[in-house]
Amino acid sequence: MKQNTHYRYDPETCSFVEVEEDRRDVLRKVGVVVGLALVLAVLAAWMMDLHMIRTPEEQALRSENEVLEQQLSRVSTQMSALSKELSRLSEKDRKLYRTLLQIEPISEDVRKVGVGGTDAHSEFDRFGTHTAELLRETASTLDQLERQVSLQGASYRELTQFAERRDQRLLELPAIRPTNGPIVSGYGMRHHPILKVRKMHAGVDFLVRTGTPIVTTGNGVIRRAQYSPTYGNYVDVHHKTAGYITRYAHLSEIEDDIQRGVKVERGQRIGYSGNTGRSTGPHLHYEVRDDKGRTLDPIDFFVPDMSPQNFYQLVERTQQYQNRFASAEKSDKETSSGFSLSSGG
Ligand SMILES: [Zn+2]
Repeated sequence: MKQNTHYRYDPETCSFVEVEEDRRDVLRKVGVVVGLALVLAVLAAWMMDLHMIRTPEEQALRSENEVLEQQLSRVSTQMSALSKELSRLSEKDRKLYRTLLQIEPISEDVRKVGVGGTDAHSEFDRFGTHTAELLRETASTLDQLERQVSLQGASYRELTQFAERRDQRLLELPAIRPTNGPIVSGYGMRHHPILKVRKMHAGVDFLVRTGTPIVTTGNGVIRRAQYSPTYGNYVDVHHKTAGYITRYAHLSEIEDDIQRGVKVERGQRIGYSGNTGRSTGPHLHYEVRDDKGRTLDPIDFFVPDMSPQNFYQLVERTQQYQNRFASAEKSDKETSSGFSLSSGG
């Protein structure tokens, strides 16, 4: 029997007879196979195009995307480095500047405001996992950076203002002597040489000849430059930021330009010493008061201007002069000694 030949059983002849295939039937089968193959080929081509074969635009977009992702990654790294640098600065700020200037450091609670909490960047979840992670990380680092920068900026502004105020306070502090010459009467209770009663002496008296230049002891603004029966010609200087008022009394002369509202600097000449007002001899009566008008011992303010040794020498010399006046007053009821001084204070 021939290969590929089909037979059928014929009951009438009781034998197998060769069956001749219908040509049309064969053609139909071939057609089906070819059709199926074509469909499969089209499908495969479509899938390949989807995943592998790209149009030039698509290819450009893809490479652009890759570049962007690399860029994002680099920005993220740079921001992390910046954040670390800022942390280092804030630590320096806390340890150095604030400690040096003796002001309260910004608390850790304030520094960490807004850190953590709910995920504010869940909008990136719709991208691929890797990109989403990168975007989320970058966005949250950016948030942190913004917070750190704003906090650190505020801190530095505050420190600068504080330092400026402190500079101003130091410039205004009545820290030098208003004139050269020994202090012949200290601050405190004393026997008043004119009123003959124990009276509070609100300042210190410098023994100086009439016409000796008198200078302001700190930066400030002239509050008064006038005459009074008690203080004679006197000048009050307001050291506003430092919170003090200084008074220079019994002057023979006040400089013409020294008038209310005029700014003066430490060491600037405001007039000349004299013997005006309630005074028994040429001297400078010098007072320091605080904002509330309370008198303070001016000697305490000279301390920054001198060494401890000089300070104790000054205190001792002042005491010696005072003792000498006391004994002079005892031996001679009338104040004939050239050292006998008084002031309205
Ligand atoms: Zn006095």
